[in-house]
Order: sequence, then structure tokens, then C-alpha cells
Amino acid sequence: MTQEFHKEAIQHPIFELIGKTSEELGMDAYVIGGFVRDYLLDRGSPKDIDIVAIGSGIALAEKVASKLEGKPQVAVFKNFGTAMIKHQGLELEFVGARKESYQRNSRKPIVEDGTLQDDQNRRDFTINAMALSLNPTDFGTLLDPFGGRLDLGKKCIRTPLEPGITYSDDPLRMMRAIRFAAQLDFNIELESLRAITSHKDRIKIVSEERIVDELHKILLSKKPSLGFKLMHQTGLLHLILPELTALQGIEEIEGQRHKDNFWHTLEVVDNIAETTDNLWLRWAALLHDIGKAPTKRFHKKIGWTFHAHEFVGSKMVYKLFKRLRMPLNDKMKFVQKMVLMSSRPIILSEDHVTDSAVRRLVFDAGEFVDDLMTLCEADITTKNPKKQKRYKNNFQIVRQKIVEVEERDHVRNFQPPVTGEEIMETFNLKPSKEIGILKDAIKEAILEGEIPNEHGAAFAYMLEKGKKMNLTPKNDKI
Ligand code: ATP
Ligand code: MG
Repeated sequence: MTQEFHKEAIQHPIFELIGKTSEELGMDAYVIGGFVRDYLLDRGSPKDIDIVAIGSGIALAEKVASKLEGKPQVAVFKNFGTAMIKHQGLELEFVGARKESYQRNSRKPIVEDGTLQDDQNRRDFTINAMALSLNPTDFGTLLDPFGGRLDLGKKCIRTPLEPGITYSDDPLRMMRAIRFAAQLDFNIELESLRAITSHKDRIKIVSEERIVDELHKILLSKKPSLGFKLMHQTGLLHLILPELTALQGIEEIEGQRHKDNFWHTLEVVDNIAETTDNLWLRWAALLHDIGKAPTKRFHKKIGWTFHAHEFVGSKMVYKLFKRLRMPLNDKMKFVQKMVLMSSRPIILSEDHVTDSAVRRLVFDAGEFVDDLMTLCEADITTKNPKKQKRYKNNFQIVRQKIVEVEERDHVRNFQPPVTGEEIMETFNLKPSKEIGILKDAIKEAILEGEIPNEHGAAFAYMLEKGKKMNLTPKNDKI
């Protein structure tokens, strides 16, 4: 094998300092893993830098930190034998080279000190096992025992050791393989794909948090469908997100077919990935149709229906987030809201777009109305160019109307123009259901466009409505 040098990758003075310091401590040191891979892929210089020392990583980190300007703090994780330094925007993680052996029931290995080769053997993929020497005698030499460099050229994800053992030892690697394939647009070697397929059930020993981390990364990649297709093909998707695989398939009864909502969903996710980096909006795209599996029915007269699938889907979002130990916070509520409202602009755009319908949409979606429109535009997957054009045009009209209506009526963050206190004061009322009825009537009148969203008009409307309800205003209020 010809020797390669990549000094330009490690031009930053910190690398030379680490090399010299490790020499003083009588050990070797290397930069390894993602940093080397991303440099060789021209993905820029990553800020996360993994340093492996043939000896104590913690001792090396401490000595390096003591020589740096400002003497940065060293965060030591004794249990893991690692130490971290933050320096000039870089995050340097130091670890001693290790040899690992696995037990059946845990993805946490038994660890002993090892050589560089041992450490490279425990890495997940050939492209992640490459190291650059920081030692003064061979500074910048690439150490690539498994042909990771060639695999980068071939766009291939391959394990250094036997794939069955690699994935079974630490099943998180199955998700990592798929995530890297999606992020880098690489292929997973056939033997690896087979091994993932046969060991898929081992995913059970991986924590939900780690799985979700990988799902986030897949969703944030340029073309997320690459990852979801691989998950589907290997059977992992069914174990992790059965709500999605339940959408697969086309049924036909009496010559009536419905579309395959699984493949449709993947198209929607790819579409939305072109227009937004908002992770939660991408989640919403992934989950927007999950209510269709449990609500699917066939009716002789009207064919296939998915009645109230948006509502059912939004309830499923909660269960799914809970199962995957995702945050049950405003992010989840946002996804629920998007799923719940996912058909609203479509219904609107199929019809003549009226002001009042747009006003109601803005009122209900509030600050997320633009996100909702982005989701609905991504939802257009028809292959019929005429329809495609018509839907897109209609959405443009809806967007335009949203701007107009919002300029005029300000219903996006709707505050009732007449407060409950004012109503009580006007009609000399104690807290009672009449107040709610009046407030609601005012809101409806505004949304319907009967009155503008202004105090004067709303107050007059309230007086009129109150009279009809046999309420008498105090004399000074008329
Ligand atoms: P990125 O930071 O972009 O996600 P990375 O390759 O740096 O990619 P990290 O999770 O930061 O990924 O891990 C750093 C390195 O540690 C990897 O390049 C790989 O060599 C090794 N590694 C990480 N996780 C595993 C694992 N589960 N099994 C084996 N090696 C791993
Ligand atoms: Mg990293």
C-alpha cells in the first residue's frame, strides 16, 4: 500500500502540540474517525475531533490543556476513560486506544488497553477507522488498515470485521450505517445489508434516545428517503416506526384503488427537505398520514375513505413520541398541530378560495401558518403535470390571501378585541356562560368577515347581540 500524507488536514497548531506532548509522555497519538473521513470527503474540517492515544487519553488531555493559552478546563469522564477540551471553537475528545469484547445482552463492551490496530478494529466502518499520525516522526501519515480510502471513492459503507459480529455486538451500528448512507449518499455493502436484516431484532437493546438521534440525522439529511428505504428494506423500520410501515400497500376493491401512502410519505419528506431545515417540520411530514392506516374504509358508493385521519394521526403522534422517549413538549405539540391541520389548505385550495376560509386557517394555525403551507406544498406528489400545476397555483393564491387577510385583520395571534371584563362591565354580569357566548359570537363575526377586527365594531356588535339575548346594557354604555 502506498503511503499517503495529509499534513494539510492537521495544519491547526493544536495537532502539532498534541503530537509533541504525547511524545514527551512516551506515547503515540492519532486523530481518528469522523474528522479524517470528512476531511477526505471535502466536507470541511469538522469541529469535533477524536484523538486516540496509545496510553492514557486523560493524561494526554491534561498535559495538552496545561500548555494551551488560557489553560482550558478538561472535562474528564473517568468511567469512559475519556477527556474533552474545548479550544478555539474545536471540541477535542481524547481517549486511550482500546480493545473491546462484547457480551450478549448489552451494547456496552468490556474494555482493555490496546494498540492502535485494536482500536481501529473496534470502529464501526472502514471509512470511520482511518487515522492520521500526530507523532513528530511521521506527522500526517494516513493509517488505513481496511481500505477506508478506497471505500470513500466507491461510496461504500463496509465494516472492518465480519459484519454479523459487528452489528450483533453493537446494534446501534445498524442505524449508524443507514444514517451515514443517507447523509453521504453512500451504499451499504451487500453483506452488511444482509447482516443488518438478520440481526435487526437486536435493535431492542439500543436505547430509544440513541435510535432517535440517528432518526434525526436521517431526517436532516438531504434526501431522507434514502435512509427510510434502507430501514424499510432491512426490516428495522417496522420495529422502530410500525406506524409508517402500516401505510404500505395498495388495496383494490371493485376496481377502486387508493395510493400507497408509505411511498407517498417518503416523497413528501424528500420534498420538504428541499425547502426547510426545520427538524420538527420534517417530522410532521414523516407522520402527516399515519392516521390513514387505522381509519381506512371502503364504501360501495364513494370508494376509499380515511375519515378523520388527521385527528387520529395527531393522537398517534403523542403515543409515538412517548414510546420513543422523545420530548412531550412544544415540539411534539407542533408536530401534532401540523398533522391535525395537514389537509386544511388542500381542501381550501381545491375550492374557490374565500377570505373567510383563509381567515379561519390563519386563526387556527396561528404562528405556524407558514409551516403548514410548506407542509402542504410538499404534500403535492401527483405525477399529473396539469394537476401539479393547478395545486401549486392554488397554494400560491392561498399564500397571497394569507398575507392580505393578515394585513387587514390580524388574526394570526388573535386577541379578542372586546375582553370578558368589558362584557361583564357593560351588561352588569357576573362570570357566566353568556360571556363565553358573546366572545364567541364576536370571534365568529370577525372570522366570517361580518365585522373588522377592531374594538369599535366589535363593541357595537356585542351590544346588538346582547340585546337579542335579552341582556340590558348599563345606561352609560349605550
Ligand atoms: P458524526 O460526528 O458526523 O456523527 P462520526 O464518525 O464522528 O460522525 P461519532 O459518533 O462522533 O461519529 O463517533 C466518532 C468515531 O467513533 C466514529 O468515526 C467511529 O470511528 C467511532 N464510533 C462511534 N460510534 C461507534 C460505534 N457504535 N461502534 C464503533 N465505532 C464507533
Ligand atoms: Mg463526531
